[in-house]
Amino acid sequence: AVTPQTPYLSGLNPEQRAAVEATEGPVLVLAGAGTGKTRVLTTRIAHLIATGKARPFDILSVTFTNKAAREMRERVASLIGPVAEGMQWLGTFHSIGTKILRRHAELVDLRSDFTILGTDDQLRLMKQVIAAENIDEKRWPARQLASMIDGWKNRGLGPAQVPAGEAGAFANGKGGRLYTAYQDRLKTLNAADFGDLLLECLRLWREHPDILAQYQKRFRYMLVDEYQDTNVAQYLWLRLLAQAHKNLCCVGDDDQSIYGWRGAEVDNILRFEHDFPGATVIRLERNYRSTAHILSAASGLIAKNQSRLGKTLRTEDEPGEKVSITGAWDSEEEARLIGEEIEALHTKQHSLAEMAILVRTTAQMRALEDRLVEIGVPYRIIGGQRFYERAEIRDALAYLRCVNQPADDLAFERIINVPKRGLGDATIQLLHGHARAARVSMMEAARFLVETDELKPKPRATLRDLLISFGRWSQLSQTMTQSDVAQTVLEESGYTDMWQKDKSADAAGRLENLKELVRSMEEFPDLQSFLEHVSLVMEANDSDTTERVSLMTMHAAKGLEFDTVFLPGWEEGLLPNQRALDESGRAGLEEERRLAHVGITRAKRRAKIYFASNRRIHGLWNSTIPSRFVDDLPEANVEIVEAPANFSHGSGYGGGSRFDRMPAFSGSSYQTPGWQRAQARNAGKDDGYSAGRSGDRRGPMVIDGELVAKSTGTAS
Ligand code: ATP
Ligand code: MG
Repeated sequence: AVTPQTPYLSGLNPEQRAAVEATEGPVLVLAGAGTGKTRVLTTRIAHLIATGKARPFDILSVTFTNKAAREMRERVASLIGPVAEGMQWLGTFHSIGTKILRRHAELVDLRSDFTILGTDDQLRLMKQVIAAENIDEKRWPARQLASMIDGWKNRGLGPAQVPAGEAGAFANGKGGRLYTAYQDRLKTLNAADFGDLLLECLRLWREHPDILAQYQKRFRYMLVDEYQDTNVAQYLWLRLLAQAHKNLCCVGDDDQSIYGWRGAEVDNILRFEHDFPGATVIRLERNYRSTAHILSAASGLIAKNQSRLGKTLRTEDEPGEKVSITGAWDSEEEARLIGEEIEALHTKQHSLAEMAILVRTTAQMRALEDRLVEIGVPYRIIGGQRFYERAEIRDALAYLRCVNQPADDLAFERIINVPKRGLGDATIQLLHGHARAARVSMMEAARFLVETDELKPKPRATLRDLLISFGRWSQLSQTMTQSDVAQTVLEESGYTDMWQKDKSADAAGRLENLKELVRSMEEFPDLQSFLEHVSLVMEANDSDTTERVSLMTMHAAKGLEFDTVFLPGWEEGLLPNQRALDESGRAGLEEERRLAHVGITRAKRRAKIYFASNRRIHGLWNSTIPSRFVDDLPEANVEIVEAPANFSHGSGYGGGSRFDRMPAFSGSSYQTPGWQRAQARNAGKDDGYSAGRSGDRRGPMVIDGELVAKSTGTAS
C-alpha cells in the first residue's frame, strides 16, 4: 500500500502529489517552467507501476525528444528499480508511431522495413513529383509544396481530406494531385516521411477499428509531456487512443509553446477540457528551478504577451544574482566574452556540464564553437541533426541504406555517381525511365539495363561493377558487424579515397566524421536499427562522458535546466527573428517572446544575456540594436554589465532605451574602417535574413564613422 512515506511520493508538494495520485480519468497539469511537471509525470509512472495499477508495457508515455525519453526511463528506474526497463511505449510521437506502423505496415501499403525519409530526401522526391507533372519548379518550388504537405499532415489531413480550396492554391489547382502523387511515390519506395508516422496510424485505425480497439485496450494509462507543443494530428492520435480508458494525463505550459511554426496548437490545451469533460485541472505554482531574480525577470518578460492563460509563480529560493546584460561589438567579441565567463566560472569549480549556451539560430553557433575550440573548452551540440546532416555522413548513410534496402531509390541516386565514376545525368535519366515504366526500383532497373546495349560500354561496365559490389556488401552484412560493413563499403566504393585525395581545407574533418560514424555504429545490434536511430534521433551523440558545455538552439533546450545559461544574440531581427515577425506579425512576436522566456527559464542560478551591435549574417555585416525583449525585463531584476573592452563611454543618444548608454551604442572610439566600408556596401541589401537591416526603420545608422543607436522604444 502507498503511505505518505512511500519514498517516491515524499519529495512532492501537495499539488504535485495530487497530480500523481489522480490516476483515473483525464488530468491536465497546467503550470509554468520549473514547477515540476516532468517530475510529476515520472513519479506518476513509478506510482502506477509500484501500486500494480499498470504493468510497464500498459503505459504510453510521450516525450518531446528521444533524449527526454531516455532520461525519463532512467528516472523511473531510479525510483522503482529495473522494472522500468519494460516500458516499451515510452518515446516521442515519432518513435511510438513508427513502432505501431511497423507492426501493421501491410495495412498501410508499406513493408515492415520501410525507410523514414529525412527532409532533404523528402524535398528530392517532391522535385521528382513536380517534374513528372510538367510543372515549372522555379515557379512552384518543391520547398513550398513540402511545407504545404507537412502542414496538412500536421493537421491530420490525408490527400482525400484536404479542403478543395487549399489544395488548389498550389500550381493552379494541382496541389491535391501532387499530394496524392507524392504519397504514391512514398509507397512505391517503401518509405514514410515524418508526418506519415502519425497520419498513417490515424488511417490505420480509421480503416481497421479492431486494431484501434486493441491499442485502446492496451494503453491503460497515457502521459504526455510538453503538451502545449502538440499539433492537431498528435492530438487526434492521443484522443483516439484514450477513448477506452480515458486515463490521459497531459502536462504543459502555454507560455512555452514554441512550435507554432511547425503546426503546434496551444488550442489543444483548451480543447482538452472540452473533449474530456470533467477533466481534473491541476496548477502548480511553486518554481523549484530558478532563483527569485531569474524567475521574476522571466515572468516580467512573458507578462508582455497578450495571448496567454496567465498564471502565478513563486519561489522560495533566494534572490540570487540578477540577470546580466552585456553588449558586445560584434559576434566575435560576444563569443570571446562568453568564453571568458565560462573559464572564470570553471576556475571557481563550476562544472562545465552545468553551463549552456542557447542560440536563436544555428548560424550563431559557428563563432561560439570557434571560440570554445580556441580556448580549449569542451562542448557538445544538443538537438542538432548537425552531425547526421553533414554531406559526407549523408553520403555514407546513403550507401548503407542501399545495402540495407536495395529498393531505396533516393539513396541510390545520391551515391550512384559519388565518387564520380562516369554515371552522369544521362545514365540516371535512363534508369529513371526504366524504373518508372517497369514499376521497379532503380537498382532493379540497373540490373536489367546492364544486360542490354542501351548504355554505352563504359558506363555499362561501371554500373555492372557497382551492382556486383552492392551484391557483395549485402552478403557481407549477413555475417559482418555493421561497423565492419560500413568500413568496407566506404573503402571499396572509393568514397573514403575521394576525401583522402581532396585538397580542400575541410577534407580532414570529413574523414574524421566518417570515422566517427563507423565507430558510433558499434553501439547498435544491427544495421537496420542503426539506420532507424539515425532517422529518428535528433540529438547529438552524447554517449561521451567528458564534462562539456552544452550548445544548442532555444528550441532544443525545452525541458532542460542548467546552473548557468548564456543567451547570446538578443538583437532585433535575430530575437525576435525578423522572419517570424514578417510572416506571422503579432502572433510571431509573441512566439518569439515565449522562446526568449524558455531561454531564461532554463537557468537555475545565472542567466546571462548578450547582444552584439554588429553581426555578420551570410557573409554580410549588419548593424543591430538590442532586442525589445531586453527592455521587457523588469529593471529590478537585471544588471547591466559594462563590457570590459576599450570603449570610450559616451552619454547616450535618443533616450527611450536604457541601453543607449551601453558602451557599444555610445559615441565610440572604434577604428574599423574596413568593417564600415563593408557595411556601407551592404546597406539596403536584403540577405533574406535581415537581422536589423540597414535602412530598417528601427535600425541604427552609421554617421561619419560613429555608430548612433536610435531609440528602440518598447514593444507591444
Ligand atoms: P519545464 O516547464 O521547464 O519543462 P517542469 O515543470 O517540467 O519544467 P521539472 O523539470 O520537472 O519542471 O522540475 C524543475 C526542477 O525542480 C527539477 O530540478 C526538479 O527536480 C525540481 N523539483 C520539482 N519538484 C520538486 C520538489 N517537490 N522538490 C524539490 N525539487 C523539485
Ligand atoms: Mg518539463
